[in-house]
Amino acid sequence: MNVSAVPELAPPLRLLLGPGPSMVHPRVLRAMSTPLLGHLDPRFLEIMNEVQAQLRAVFRTENPFTIAVSGTGSAGMEAALVNLIEPGDAAIVVAAGVFGNRMAEIVGRCGGRLVKLDVPWGQVCELGRIEEALRKEGKVKVVAVVHAETSTGAQQPMEGLGKLCHAHGALLVVDTVTSLGGVPVEVDAWEADAVYSGTQKCLSCPPGLAPLTLSPRALDAVKARKTKVQSWYLDAGMVADYWAEGKRVYHHTAPISMVYALRESLRLVLEEGLEARFARHRRHSAALMAGVAALGCSPQAQEGHRLPSLNCVRAPAGVDEGAVRKALLNEHDIEIGGGLGPLAGQVWRIGLMGESSRQENVLAVLAALEQALAKQGKAPKPGASLAAALESYARS
Ligand SMILES: *Cc1c(COP(=O)(O)O)cnc(C)c1O
Repeated sequence: MNVSAVPELAPPLRLLLGPGPSMVHPRVLRAMSTPLLGHLDPRFLEIMNEVQAQLRAVFRTENPFTIAVSGTGSAGMEAALVNLIEPGDAAIVVAAGVFGNRMAEIVGRCGGRLVKLDVPWGQVCELGRIEEALRKEGKVKVVAVVHAETSTGAQQPMEGLGKLCHAHGALLVVDTVTSLGGVPVEVDAWEADAVYSGTQKCLSCPPGLAPLTLSPRALDAVKARKTKVQSWYLDAGMVADYWAEGKRVYHHTAPISMVYALRESLRLVLEEGLEARFARHRRHSAALMAGVAALGCSPQAQEGHRLPSLNCVRAPAGVDEGAVRKALLNEHDIEIGGGLGPLAGQVWRIGLMGESSRQENVLAVLAALEQALAKQGKAPKPGASLAAALESYARS
């Protein structure tokens, strides 16, 4: 081939305000470009220990089994489910959007007996409904919920869920891909048994690793399996031996540069402090939501259960939402997300995750939205959305 047909990479500089990946701090990019170590090098083994300790702090857990699975958030989801579910095991899955449905799909592939609790997109599931299903189904191995449903912007309440599951002998699996590092995640206080996340959302690291923590109860369930885990790559027993201090049995080659990146992004998270970081996410989300309300958008998620990291809003009536997103990208270098599944063509999903959650980004996306809506003759008073956002900032 003609080598000049593929010039050196120089991607456009975009402002990433979609459902992920989010903006990455320069310190993380620098860490990624530092020299490689062998994955069994003593210094790299120390780095793995450091990352495990950082992940425990961010997950708020004492679980010894706390690692970064090699793969994106979906690999974390698959690892959690494939290790806990054996053919014939019953699993209750709350499906309130794309990611709950993905969990249900994986349960099926594990040969599990799926009990799917469908919830209208944008709503959360009442504890009572899960309790009723646990009573009715008898022996249930796993209850799986998405804490932060990125397709709808709704945040599932977690209070009492772990206790309820354990009272019925079930394990609790939680997807925290769009909450870890942006919204409180309390693995031990929730009594959750398998919790996974992804690096490219509120942790503001490139995609490629899936933080995963398993409770001692979950590990006992893995040990008590009658059948081998269907996936060789994601088998928690083998991966545990790779991450276990003193063992480090070769299993697969860790993605070295990604581990460097995660280590630096977790340093940034812990330097800021979790509570300060959660408050920052709430503050910028409130300003954005005030701004888009002035543009005629209404929230998709149920009141009182809206995610600050992923703001899902219905586009104003009569607006071609796809044309607006195209204008944002082409004319302003701003990426926001559209709707998935039944919400396609109806909503915008504006991510304010990690590094993306900043005042200048909120004001930039509002100004760009206003201009794009004006082109369709659908903009309200010029400057109205910025004024609403600034008013929200003045109050906070
Ligand atoms: C993004 C996301 C995933 C999947 O993560 P990938 O990194 O895209 O594989 C799973 N669950 C939720 C809630 C997500 O937002």
